[in-house]
Amino acid sequence: MKFRIGHGIDVHSFKTGDHVMLGGIKIPHTHGIDAHSDGDVILHSITDALLGALGMGDLGNWFPDSNPELKDIASKDLIMPIIMSMRVKGFELNNLDVTVVAQAPRVNVYADEIRKNIASIFSANIEVINIKATTTEKMGYLGRKEGIACHTVISLIDAETLKESDAKALKESFEIKDKGISSIANKEDDDHTIDLTGEIDIRDFNFDD
Ligand SMILES: [Zn+2]
Repeated sequence: MKFRIGHGIDVHSFKTGDHVMLGGIKIPHTHGIDAHSDGDVILHSITDALLGALGMGDLGNWFPDSNPELKDIASKDLIMPIIMSMRVKGFELNNLDVTVVAQAPRVNVYADEIRKNIASIFSANIEVINIKATTTEKMGYLGRKEGIACHTVISLIDAETLKESDAKALKESFEIKDKGISSIANKEDDDHTIDLTGEIDIRDFNFDD
């Protein structure tokens, strides 16, 4: 089994504006983000974590802010080629954990929407994506609402192992369901009211594919 871990941090300051982009989601705010791209700290920190796990340097050297073609680019367009590199190297996302640090805006209310979007960007199960948000208790530049920061830890696993563990999890979930239905069926059978036995046979499923 091949396994990698990466860590990424991104920080941007606020400027005049009315929204921020976080995890590809547009969030209304009293300020905008000062950045060459759309300044999405979540996607930038995930991209940096991913590059770290792959041993591929950092966001700045792949996408320098001196490149006029990248002006106002959506951060999704920056992460997609790195996700492609991940697949070329034979890795898939195992899980990722994101922590946004900001006094404002309130990120928690958007956490589910952000999770869904990141899961779709990675074509991954939403359960392996976690989004947290915290403040600095009004201390420092983030506490003074001068900007927003994000930390990400990512783990990657080789695609073959992930496929095997997914198949195992699927098999186990069928076994749990199978046992559950058997116990209900046995109980009901005592009352001679219902017979659910034989409706699911785990052997009908081929998990080797
Ligand atoms: Zn950034």
